Amino acid sequence: MSKASEIVRVTGIPFTAAYAWSVGIPMEKFIQALAKKKLLASKCPGCGYTYTPPRNRCGKCSARIEDKDMVELSGKGTLLSYTAAHVELDGAGNWKDLAGPKLIGAIQLEGADSTVFMPLDKVEEKALKAGMKVEVVWNDTTKGELADLKAFKPVKGN
Ligand SMILES: [Zn+2]
Repeated sequence: MSKASEIVRVTGIPFTAAYAWSVGIPMEKFIQALAKKKLLASKCPGCGYTYTPPRNRCGKCSARIEDKDMVELSGKGTLLSYTAAHVELDGAGNWKDLAGPKLIGAIQLEGADSTVFMPLDKVEEKALKAGMKVEVVWNDTTKGELADLKAFKPVKGN
């Protein structure tokens, strides 16, 4: 004889999830170097592709990238493209209007093959053009966190 199954719902169980999350050794070194206002990249020993932020495995040829393959970048690069954002998320999933446009650039740093996407500072949208040279803008005080890297701005003489 079979017994009818029933659905048991349990609610209100206290739940604590302790966890530790690592960004990985290459990213950790990248973040630590920001405190010294240095930008690091990793150059693949297999194919030479250079990643920033650095990584430990090449996405092009799958070679292992070691600490010895880290290189320091100049902090200068080329603006490949840009956009102007007029809204942003408020942290609760809602869009809110910005007081003014926030400019965001796709930048290829000198010595790197990968592209970073960063805010553009100290420039008007109409003054931007693809191909112009840009350089990093550091926060006045750096602490070894991603926020140390404030933005990029056009290099004088573009
Ligand atoms: Zn490679």
